[in-house]
Amino acid sequence: MKTNTLKLSALVMLIAITGCTSKPTFNADILLTGGLLITGDGSPVNAKQVAICEDKICGIFAPDSTHIKAKKIIDVSGKVIAPGFIDPHTHSLSDLKSSTRNNNLNYLTQGVTTVINGNDGGGPVDFDATKHTLHANGIGTNVGLLVGHGSLRKQVMGKVARQATEKEMSQMEALLEAAMKQGALGLSSGLYYVPGSYANTNEVVRLAKVAAKFNGIYDTHIRDESTFSIGLIPAVQEAIDIAKAADIHLHLAHIKALGVDVWGQSEQIIKLVESEQQQGLSISADQYPWLASGTKLHSALMPKWVMADSKKAFHARLKDPRLQDQIDRELAENLRRRGGAKAILITKFHDKSLEGKTLEQVAKEWNLSAISATKKLVLMGQVRIASFNMSAEDVENFMQQTWVVTSSDGTDGHPRKYASFPKKLKSYVLDKNLMSLETFIQRSSADTAKYFNIKKRGQIKPDYFADIIVFDPKQISVNASFAHWNVLTEGMQYVFVNGEIVINDHKFTNIHAGKVID
Ligand SMILES: [Zn+2]
Repeated sequence: MKTNTLKLSALVMLIAITGCTSKPTFNADILLTGGLLITGDGSPVNAKQVAICEDKICGIFAPDSTHIKAKKIIDVSGKVIAPGFIDPHTHSLSDLKSSTRNNNLNYLTQGVTTVINGNDGGGPVDFDATKHTLHANGIGTNVGLLVGHGSLRKQVMGKVARQATEKEMSQMEALLEAAMKQGALGLSSGLYYVPGSYANTNEVVRLAKVAAKFNGIYDTHIRDESTFSIGLIPAVQEAIDIAKAADIHLHLAHIKALGVDVWGQSEQIIKLVESEQQQGLSISADQYPWLASGTKLHSALMPKWVMADSKKAFHARLKDPRLQDQIDRELAENLRRRGGAKAILITKFHDKSLEGKTLEQVAKEWNLSAISATKKLVLMGQVRIASFNMSAEDVENFMQQTWVVTSSDGTDGHPRKYASFPKKLKSYVLDKNLMSLETFIQRSSADTAKYFNIKKRGQIKPDYFADIIVFDPKQISVNASFAHWNVLTEGMQYVFVNGEIVINDHKFTNIHAGKVID
């Protein structure tokens, strides 16, 4: 007792001598000074210093704090410091597995530090093998993986147009369970696409239940975004029914009202989603900020039955004279829904002379009807298109909902792969003022992490991974367009991935700091 009192009085004296206001020195690896912090949780911008220790954020300090020592101090005066964006819907896995595009630079330059893959029912089934390949290759951004229902189906039953048997169901469930245990974020479906379109609702419910058991989510490209089959509203309802039956979070991929028949239905969908949310169902969605979707010509226009079984069978049907009347009729109807041949722009094809032309222009050059030109093009090879099928009102209506986050759905042939986040910032936040900068950042990072159950990313917060972007919103330059879809965005001054500087004063450092999230 006596020694303790002595020690205490000695300590008090020491404080009196050295000055009691001085804090102990805080040691960091990197300190960002002079910046304007937007944390991602929706709170307003605030002048702060941000410290990074190894791969984590280790401190947030007042601008006048002087007790921080760092190996590297970066002056970011007047610039916004924000969490790196999380893109919940990409198709970037083949880039990440390649030897030249694994830096994912088209995403880093948008400020995206984490991409999700395996959307639309596609992607790999074997999580561990994919993780191993990606880590061995080196990747520029972090990656989270969903397990595709279409991939499960293809692996177990090929592309046949029928329901799954009980045995096939158990095989798909077992494959999904293994991937969920290894770290997959959930199940994705593409019920519009072959072979997902051949599945009934119950098949998806059974699989969603497996994902739910491991706290995964259900992410879906719904069965119909237009009036192709069951209709837009019934397709949203199907997604809701699946989530209810499986007791799982529902995420509606790239929410939209596709085609003239369903323009204006954003109102009804928002009401439907919100009434379900009020009754306790957890629902979110993502959206890319463009009026055109991007896909392949055959996916956009061909009737599903024509594409069944194999490419060989598909092409044989396209040439079978007995089937032409029916194919032409259905093709014409699909083209009408999408706004006609003038609303279909060819953006990527092996015959470069056709790129940048509309289907209407190509048909005219060939002296064919739009229907015959479509069939000819599909038989010639894979044609990537931009399909101008959305109304500005619906896009803006969806965008303003608290449960809609930013995505790219990036694919070759569409500027969304290079400029979705900056486009939303420029056109909808700065020009049209549809939301504040803080809200835009929240719906591009923290909210996405919350919906996809991504731990310790999406916010600037101590102990979170140091995925950080630094930029001046007014200096972001959107360079990609429908005419030149693959031009990098400029303006991100610094990008950190897991504490590593991957963009340093606007220049890529060639560091592959991304990890597979599990
Ligand atoms: Zn999709």
